[in-house]
Amino acid sequence: MTYAWKLEAEAGLDGIPVYTDESTVEKLSKDFYWYSPVLDKKLKDKKADAIIAPRSESEVEAALVFACRHRLPLTVRGAGTGNYGQAIPLEGGIVLDLSGLDRIIEIGAGYARVQCGVKLGALEKKAREEGQELRIYPSTYAKATVGGFVCGGSGGVGSIAWGNLWDGNVLGAVVYTMEERPRRLEIEGTDLFDYIHNYGTTGIMTEVVLPLAPRRDWMQTVIEFDDFESALRFGEALARDGSVPKRLVTPIEWPLPSFFLPLRKVLMPNKSVVFAETDGSSLPQLERLAAEFGGGVGHVIPPEMYRKSIGLSDFTWNHTTLWALKADPAHTYLQAGFAPDRYLEQLRTLKGVFGDELLMHFEWVLGGGQLLPNALPVVRFTTEERLYEIIGTCRSIGVEIYDPHTWLLDNGGRGAVPGMRLRKKLNDPLGLLNPGKIG
Ligand SMILES: Cc1cc2nc3c(=O)[nH]c(=O)nc-3n(C[C@H](O)[C@H](O)[C@H](O)COP(=O)(O)OP(=O)(O)OC[C@H]3O[C@@H](n4cnc5c(N)ncnc54)[C@H](O)[C@@H]3O)c2cc1C
Repeated sequence: MTYAWKLEAEAGLDGIPVYTDESTVEKLSKDFYWYSPVLDKKLKDKKADAIIAPRSESEVEAALVFACRHRLPLTVRGAGTGNYGQAIPLEGGIVLDLSGLDRIIEIGAGYARVQCGVKLGALEKKAREEGQELRIYPSTYAKATVGGFVCGGSGGVGSIAWGNLWDGNVLGAVVYTMEERPRRLEIEGTDLFDYIHNYGTTGIMTEVVLPLAPRRDWMQTVIEFDDFESALRFGEALARDGSVPKRLVTPIEWPLPSFFLPLRKVLMPNKSVVFAETDGSSLPQLERLAAEFGGGVGHVIPPEMYRKSIGLSDFTWNHTTLWALKADPAHTYLQAGFAPDRYLEQLRTLKGVFGDELLMHFEWVLGGGQLLPNALPVVRFTTEERLYEIIGTCRSIGVEIYDPHTWLLDNGGRGAVPGMRLRKKLNDPLGLLNPGKIG
C-alpha cells in the first residue's frame, strides 16, 4: 500500500534524502539481531516504510516535524550494529538514519564534542593524532557511531579502567524531543541517565560530548595457559594490578581461540588465553605475572603496530560470538555478571552442568567503582526452552543474566529506569519514538 505521506516524502522534504526502494529500506531496517536465534525468528520480517537520512540538525528537526504531523513511528539508526533489534522498527514508519551527521565539532583538553553519526574509530584516530584517546569504546568501534554507542551500547575496550557509559563516560548531549515543535535540550549531569542506553525512545541525540584520556602506547599480548581457571586467576591479578595501565583483559576458554581464523598461526592449540592491551612498557610485568599462574606470554603485537594489523580486541567482547558463529551458525550467546567474590565457584557449577554447551570468555570491567567479572558465554543453541533453562540455572546460582534475546530496553541490566519512562511521556507524548521497546 502506498500512503499519502510516503508520496509527500518521495516528492521531497526540502532536499533531505528519502529512500523508499525495497533494498535500501530492508538494509537500513536491520541490525545484528540475528546473533540471537530467538530474535531472528521474531524480527526478520520487520521493516520501515521509508528511510530519511538528514545531514544536519535542522534537517533532523524537519524530519521530526514531518513524522509528528503524520503520526509516524520513528526509529533512529546509527550504524545498525546493535545486537538486540534495538534499531529495528517494530511498527514500520520511518527509520531516521543519522550516519550523515558525522562532524567532529571540537576536540579540547579531556573532551570531544561530536555529531552523533561520527564513527568511534574515526574519533579515536583523530583524538590520538592530538595526543588523546577514547576512554571506552565497543569492539565494533570501526563502524559504530557515537550516538549508537551512547543510546544502544554499554561498555567495551577501556571499561576495565573507566567503567561503562554510566560511569561518567558521557559528559553532555544535545537531544531533540518528538513533538510537533521539537525542543532542543542540552543535557548534562545525572539528567543524562534518562538518555544513555535509551534505544532512541526518550529523545533523539544529535550531539554528544565524550571525555578523552591522555594517549598511551598500547601493547597487545596473548598470554597462554593449560587450563581456563589459571587464565581467569591471572586475568584477575592483572586487572587488580594498579601498576599496569590497561585497556583490555579478556580470559578466553579453549576451544574458542580455535575459531579465531586470522590468528591461527600465532595461537597454540589447546591453550586457554588472556588477550590483553596494556602499556607498551609492561612486558616484563606480564611475563612475571604469567609465570606465577603457570602460563607464558605468547604472541605480542608491539605498540608501533597498533591499528596497523588486525587487533586483539577484534576477538573480544561480542566479537568472540561473531567468530563462533562463523565456525558454526548454531552458536549464540549470553551476557552475564558473575559475583566478584565467588565467580570461580559459579563457573565450576555451570561447567559441571553444561560442559561445552557454554564456552566462556570474561571481560573485567570497573562497574560503579568495583572490578567485576563480566562474561559473554557462547552458547551452543538447540531450542529457546533450553536457552531459558540455562538462563534460569545461571540466575539460580547468583549469576546475573542481562538477556540479549529480547528487544525490550534492559538498560544494561537495570531495566528501563523510572526517570526514563517519565522522560518518554514528556518528550514523546504521542509515543512515536521506537515504539514497543520500553516494556
Ligand atoms: C561483533 C559485535 C561486537 C559488539 N561489541 C560491543 C561492545 O564491545 N560493547 C557494546 O556496548 N556493544 C557492542 N556491540 C553492540 C553495538 O555494536 C554497539 O553498542 C554500538 O556502539 C552500536 O552503535 P551503532 O551506531 O551501530 O548503533 P545502532 O545499532 O544503529 O543503534 C543502537 C540503538 O541506539 C539508537 N540510536 C542510535 N543513534 C541514536 C541517536 N543519535 N539518538 C537516539 N538514539 C539513537 C537506535 O535506535 C538503537 O536503538 C557489538 C555488536 C557486534 C555485532
